[in-house]
Amino acid sequence: MSIADNLKQVLAELPQGVRLVAVSKFHPNEAIEEAYQAGQRIFGESKVQEMTAKYETLPKDIEWHFIGHLQTNKIKYMIPYVEMIHGIDTYKLLAEVNKQAAKAGRIVNCLIQIHVAQEETKFGFSPEECKDMLHAGEWKELSHIRICGLMGMASNTDDVEQINREFCLLNRLFQEIKANWFADSDTFRELSMGMSHDYHEAIAAGSTLVRVGSKIFGERNYNT
Ligand SMILES: *Cc1c(COP(=O)(O)O)cnc(C)c1O
Repeated sequence: MSIADNLKQVLAELPQGVRLVAVSKFHPNEAIEEAYQAGQRIFGESKVQEMTAKYETLPKDIEWHFIGHLQTNKIKYMIPYVEMIHGIDTYKLLAEVNKQAAKAGRIVNCLIQIHVAQEETKFGFSPEECKDMLHAGEWKELSHIRICGLMGMASNTDDVEQINREFCLLNRLFQEIKANWFADSDTFRELSMGMSHDYHEAIAAGSTLVRVGSKIFGERNYNT
């Protein structure tokens, strides 16, 4: 199957209101171009340098979503063009994105990453830490970021029940946060969850943005 075929297959499975972030990290421009030719416009990357190099050479109507772990000193390189940053996992990073966005005269869309998986290695606020941060209210002064929703990853397991529980927990938290802090906001509406092996479960649990890589582009080669 070609990239275009894989892409069409995934797109055909998405209900209305669910958008696809095609995760192109570690894949060359040619792979992205093939998906682009097939109509895909949203791509996800996890390294700022790699994303910026791709942004500079590929068509300008691509929406670049940063899905990796943020490093403070790299933020400024993507601020001029990034469409959405999925992995905000500390208030400090949110404030830094705001500072760089202010310098660039932009308002940058951000998602707050929540840790619900069992693995310690995954990043993110715990649900309580996230609510504490929102309750503290300092974020309301950050006029150059827009909090558009939440992002999360389920445990890397074959236990579908567990995956379902974690995605449902994320959705409940999303609804609670929306009701408490964003009831009047039209832009707090994204729940970014679901990858190649669990996007069906994520969609059933209310995902609005699935981040699918290997199912479209094949296995990644980390050595190139
Ligand atoms: C790599 C990555 C994905 C895509 O993973 P696949 O299993 O290839 O679909 C999605 N989300 C995040 C945060 C990633 O780092």
